[in-house]
Amino acid sequence: MDRRGFIKNAGVGALAAGTILAGAPAVHAAKTIRWKMVTTWPKNFPGLGTGANNLAKYITEMSGGRLTVKVYGAGELVPAFESFDAVSRGTAQMGHGAAYYWKGKSEATQFFAAVPFGLNADEMAGWINHGGGQQLWDELYAQFGLKAFAAGNTGVQMGGWFNKEINTISDYKGLKMRMPGLGGEVIKRAGATPVSLPGGEIFTSLQSGAIDATEWVGPYNDLAFGFYKAAKYYYWPGWHEPGTVLECFVNKKAYEGLPADLRAIVDHAMKAAYVDMLSEFTTKNNAALMQLVDKHGVKLKRFSDDVLKKMGQLSQEVVEEVAAKDKMSGKVYKSFNAYRKQSLNWNRIGEAGYSLARSLTFK
Ligand code: CA
Repeated sequence: MDRRGFIKNAGVGALAAGTILAGAPAVHAAKTIRWKMVTTWPKNFPGLGTGANNLAKYITEMSGGRLTVKVYGAGELVPAFESFDAVSRGTAQMGHGAAYYWKGKSEATQFFAAVPFGLNADEMAGWINHGGGQQLWDELYAQFGLKAFAAGNTGVQMGGWFNKEINTISDYKGLKMRMPGLGGEVIKRAGATPVSLPGGEIFTSLQSGAIDATEWVGPYNDLAFGFYKAAKYYYWPGWHEPGTVLECFVNKKAYEGLPADLRAIVDHAMKAAYVDMLSEFTTKNNAALMQLVDKHGVKLKRFSDDVLKKMGQLSQEVVEEVAAKDKMSGKVYKSFNAYRKQSLNWNRIGEAGYSLARSLTFK
């Protein structure tokens, strides 16, 4: 019965009217739903942790407080790498991380974070939103009782921090380097020992010599972590993470239990957060890079074409092997690879074509 009909019928007797009065607050005051968001980032960490905060804020604001989201830094409610399980079992309703952290759950997760020599930030959004990526991601995460969202992107990352020069691929031999995901598999083939560590544990590991080298994100984030205090050389480009997607995974039952308008708010808040995070990195990376070089004396170096070519070949091997591991990985790879193929052509003419043109006059 709609409200008008309810009031009209209420006129039939005092008892009914009394019921209306008593029931009125329930009609007007919408139920507040409180969600917890666990994250894999140190609390308020620039770009990533603050990206999670922004997402929570958008949802809370757009819903007028009907759906409020409280953010927890890594270790506050659960350790960083237990976020996935925590949301899967409903200890929290949302989690913020990067899909390659969960490769132990399924190899296919890695395609939704970063693929070495894969898609850049715009192309990842294109693949997920318009190229069939979202449907595959949902199919994959549904196995864990989750709904997947792209909720941010770092843009292209940096190649990493080293205490020795990387002149040829053999310089990776014996190197213990923090590098998660498929990039880690690639450097393993080059003779390195890849290590996966959450953000909060990298600096001390590098400083103590527990690891020899690390990658993290890019200048803005790397400056905040102070890696320049523990390593001399800063290499580019980040071939291993050309446009890493930060994800928000939501407990599927909790998501599906929301009214349609709140689900729409969650959906669109994710997209807003994606663009916001990417534009923040785009804006802040260069100033941070200049500070690293000019103020902290960091030696900026480019990987040689030879190193990049060999990494590219190893990457192709690694990715194809992952695709052959299980049916889902194969399915995701097929879709991803087709998108990369079309991106290679359009990027050359579009973004890369323009970048080259601009640099002819503006140095
Ligand atoms: Ca990284």
